[in-house]
Amino acid sequence: MTWITSLRTAGLRATPQRQFVLETLEELQHATPTDLAAAIQEQTPSVNLSTIYRTLDHLDEAGLVSRAFLVGAVPHYFLHGRGLHLVCTTCAFIECVPPTAMRASAAEVRSQHGFSVDLADVVLRGACALCQSAPRATGAGHLVA
Ligand SMILES: [Zn+2]
Repeated sequence: MTWITSLRTAGLRATPQRQFVLETLEELQHATPTDLAAAIQEQTPSVNLSTIYRTLDHLDEAGLVSRAFLVGAVPHYFLHGRGLHLVCTTCAFIECVPPTAMRASAAEVRSQHGFSVDLADVVLRGACALCQSAPRATGAGHLVA
């Protein structure tokens, strides 16, 4: 798997745990440490949550993964540079889309404000298609008309 090369290029030893975490993040697109532990333990029950946290810290320092507080107080991790994260503030749905969707806006920000947006780490908050079409003030009761 190509993660061995990525890990070595980043100056890390290619341990099985680091490869598991990167492979699983690629599959899930974004995950909390608990999500990752659950997914990895299906294959390798001996990997525990503190190992996952320690592994994520090393991968974060090496720039291979990024961390963001997408929903609530629990950090989500994702592979660095894989795109935009669209977060629905109503139902907490998260979708990852290619960074191309924001390229024109990033160019405009750069030309008008001289600021270079890092498209590898953009989180956009709003309402998903389902929540926009849902009738307001229903079941959950947290929506106002
Ligand atoms: Zn939603």
